[in-house]
Amino acid sequence: MVFDALSDGGHEQVSHFSDPETGLQAIIAIHDTSLGPGLGGTRILDYDTDADALEDALRLSGAMTMKAAAADLDLGGAKAVILGDHAEIKTDELLRAYGRAVDCLGGRYITSVDVNTGVPDMEIIAEETEYVVGREDGLGDPSPITATGVLYGLLAAVEFQYGTDDVGDVRVVVQGLGKVGSALASDLIDRGASVTVSDVNQENIDRFLADHDAAVVEPEAVYDEPCDVFAPCAIGGVINDETIPRLECDIVAGAANNILAERRHAEALADRDILYAPDYVINAGGLITVAEEYVGGDRESAFEKATAIGDRLTRMMERAEETDSTVLAAADEYARERIEASDRTTPATFDN
Ligand code: NAD
Repeated sequence: MVFDALSDGGHEQVSHFSDPETGLQAIIAIHDTSLGPGLGGTRILDYDTDADALEDALRLSGAMTMKAAAADLDLGGAKAVILGDHAEIKTDELLRAYGRAVDCLGGRYITSVDVNTGVPDMEIIAEETEYVVGREDGLGDPSPITATGVLYGLLAAVEFQYGTDDVGDVRVVVQGLGKVGSALASDLIDRGASVTVSDVNQENIDRFLADHDAAVVEPEAVYDEPCDVFAPCAIGGVINDETIPRLECDIVAGAANNILAERRHAEALADRDILYAPDYVINAGGLITVAEEYVGGDRESAFEKATAIGDRLTRMMERAEETDSTVLAAADEYARERIEASDRTTPATFDN
């Protein structure tokens, strides 16, 4: 039964690592390496059950395969979870033991930062393995690059919907003024858009308004705010049965991961003639940044690759129109075709 759960999702390799000396319990899930080695972050979480941890690793690694493939990267999908409360278990020794675990996979898995892991942790892991990105001397914070990708995706969606990418007459509501949302809102204002912002943290709003001209909407009223584009840049699950009937927009395009509470909500948006730009397509700038770091690129080349997200999304939107499907279905199909077209017959490491 356990093995069914692994193979049903198409996973190539799911490894459990333990190190009694440091207390390390980790799962590294390599979903698919048809296009290249699996790249995905390592999160440290105190899961309720081991089964929850496994399920998270399986789900997240599968999502990374699709994200990399849809971003035209020659990378596969993988993800790792370390089980436990990060405040209690995260020691240098544990991270080193984890680094050795990553290393023994020989480059089939490349790790990076995720929930409860950061750049200093990657430096410790790097003492034991070269298969790690998101490093101190790497390409730095990916958020501005993610914001650029979201911006170009949003502009492509605007052009598709209104026939022009001039956002002078476009009203955008940005939910979440964190690292990505504030950069996106700022870029949109620079391009002449009318921007309304929202955040649960008043300090973030005050900081933004000190330099920018934007309207503000209360967090709970954000879904009712009339606009052209709703850009969720805070948390996942915001498009759901409760919020969809309230939306007063033509486009949903934002940075947040898992914007849709469930997949079926893509159809529910389409039923309301709301164009949904799939999150994993337009928020791929972070993955593009670490992928670029791994191949020795620089921030400039990462920014350039993030701008290509717009044209890629356009092709997906055209395909969705031709096939009378949602853009999400068209994006999934695009990613799957890339994977299936790969002629790789042996599992990938970075060098083969
Ligand atoms: P962040 O933590 O810097 O910002 C999140 C912001 O959202 C914060 O200002 C927070 O106060 C606000 N917020 C939280 N709940 C809210 C709510 N209910 N209503 C309004 N505001 C709320 O995070 P970030 O790095 O800017 O990322 C934003 C989203 O984009 C996340 O979902 C993240 O997973 C996703 N994402 C980020 C990157 C990246 O490069 N940073 C890459 C891909 C995806």
